[in-house]
Amino acid sequence: MPYSSESVTKVTELYAKKKVAAEVAAEVEKAQLYSAVPDVKKIDNRLSSIGLRIFKESMRGGSDLCGRIDKIRVEAEELVSERARLVAAAGFDADMGEPKYECPLCKDTGYDKNGKMCKCLHRALVDAEFKNSGMSGLISKQDFDNFSLEYYIGVDRTKMENNLIRAKAFATAVAEGQCRNMLFMGTTGLGKTHLSSGIAKSVIESGCSVIYESAQNMFSDFSYERFNKSFGDKTPSKTDKYFECDLLIIDDLGTEVSNQFTSACLYNVINTRIVSEKSMLISTNVRRNELLEQYNERIVSRLIGEFEVCAFVGKDVRGEKLKMNKK
Ligand SMILES: [Zn+2]
Repeated sequence: MPYSSESVTKVTELYAKKKVAAEVAAEVEKAQLYSAVPDVKKIDNRLSSIGLRIFKESMRGGSDLCGRIDKIRVEAEELVSERARLVAAAGFDADMGEPKYECPLCKDTGYDKNGKMCKCLHRALVDAEFKNSGMSGLISKQDFDNFSLEYYIGVDRTKMENNLIRAKAFATAVAEGQCRNMLFMGTTGLGKTHLSSGIAKSVIESGCSVIYESAQNMFSDFSYERFNKSFGDKTPSKTDKYFECDLLIIDDLGTEVSNQFTSACLYNVINTRIVSEKSMLISTNVRRNELLEQYNERIVSRLIGEFEVCAFVGKDVRGEKLKMNKK
């Protein structure tokens, strides 16, 4: 599913509004122009009938058809020049009365003449998806390009270099539509969130939808849907996104309070996504044994068996960054 339906709806509405606003503003300008220079209106009326006249001549046919059509074309060119002269003489800009679209390439439709998506629409969808992903703030600060290895020392640096390569390969594979699952394991401050953000940014920019949420918040959403939503409540489901997005990033698994309900939710999300071949990235600060204490063997074996495990090592880079910045 390229982009979430939420982003597509928002952006489509925005484009429709932009286009209408530009055209309404143009009509207002045109009315000013016509009232100041009435001859321009007469010219516009004549110009608007040119297409129909050419069509009628074509229908009539005859041996002198080309000559007759050329005559109409010359007349149209003369009208256009005369119009430009009148507009300039009245002191108006040449494009007075024309819609001023934000994107002249697609005229704010989002698509070019051949029906290909315009760059501006792609950018708008990516931005909407950034916001929708739940990590727009992170993405703007942390991506692959500014992931620095200088805070890792010796063998840790080699391992982190490898993690960076694997994270990029993971993002590329997901962006290409492959189903991949990755588990980031390691204590806090080792760059798991930074690389998650880099992956999210890269995947979203390729045109896919991403949802990023902490395990705690994800379980709160499931709990709300299960226990707090009143019967007949038609508000959109808070949990559909966990199943629908192309890539689901669950952060900080293992620090939440776990119980039978959270176990069932987690298994449901992981299993449903594996069955429907949708990618996941899960990061956890706890070790395998601790995960086993919180979640049953069935879930942990899914995590270890179906996920590519990526171990984060070294000292807390936030501490290292502070030390280096002080030097
Ligand atoms: Zn455009």
